[in-house]
Amino acid sequence: MTIRDLIILGCSSQQPTRMRNHGGYLMRWNEEGLLFDPGEGTQRQFIFANVAPPCVTRIFVSHFHGDHCLGLGSMLMRLNLDKVTHPIHCYFPASGKKYFDRLRFGTIYHQLIEVIEHPISEEGIVHDDGKFQIEAYFLKHGVDNLGYRVKEADMRKFDKQKLKNHGVHGPLVREIEEKGQISIDGQTVTLDQVSYMRKGDVFATVIDTLPCPNAIKIAQGAKILLCEATYLEEHRDLAKKHRHLTALQAAEIAKQANAKQLVLTHYSARYQDLRGFVEEARSIFPNTDVAEDFKRFDFPR
Ligand SMILES: [Zn+2]
Ligand SMILES: [Zn+2]
Repeated sequence: MTIRDLIILGCSSQQPTRMRNHGGYLMRWNEEGLLFDPGEGTQRQFIFANVAPPCVTRIFVSHFHGDHCLGLGSMLMRLNLDKVTHPIHCYFPASGKKYFDRLRFGTIYHQLIEVIEHPISEEGIVHDDGKFQIEAYFLKHGVDNLGYRVKEADMRKFDKQKLKNHGVHGPLVREIEEKGQISIDGQTVTLDQVSYMRKGDVFATVIDTLPCPNAIKIAQGAKILLCEATYLEEHRDLAKKHRHLTALQAAEIAKQANAKQLVLTHYSARYQDLRGFVEEARSIFPNTDVAEDFKRFDFPR
């Protein structure tokens, strides 16, 4: 069975606390390990989470504020040290290329791994291999900042009982899949009569932004929406000033986007207790949880 879960490696905003590391989010999804926003200390957080870093296949940087990328260089060096043989794809806003380079080559570094850069300047689909489609859209944070939407391809699934009822078995299954319909004892059986399309799941990240239409677009129908909530409503003025969301605003995005589950993160260090975040968001979006370091969220099919 393949692993499908979201592991929180950190959930602070720019100032880490004793209990919260800089952000870092690992989505283990089939053969992929998608690492979002590796903040400072992410490498060590893998060890505490008991996850081996070589599972990482793609790294996404939303923007180049330090809490979202200071761990990029050390993560790449760690993967280098572990001599991973698969390429590491890195996605980031194209305007931050100079920061990407500085982080990547900040120290003495004998590169063995293959790093494939994907500087993004245009919104839309940035990857599609038939298994996964990844889209990126700009958020509203005062600097170039991307939200990511990862969608698994839709998959045709056969219904065992219906196959049996229609007498489709053995090589006929492949035949009906290829041709769309077959004839059995003079009766036509169509593919749709014995199968259905399972919609691919969506995982979305909206981290560091003011409320904006793209946030809803990214989050549309997401099974898990990982969304920043730096402040509570009592500090909405600060949220606006620093171009961030409150827990309630994050919940509004989840609700408008018809997301299934909302996971809040990126809390200001001023809040020690996260109960206020849960209460505020659940008042309009009940299926809300809070990220905490090393918490794991299942992402079942
Ligand atoms: Zn931040
Ligand atoms: Zn930021």
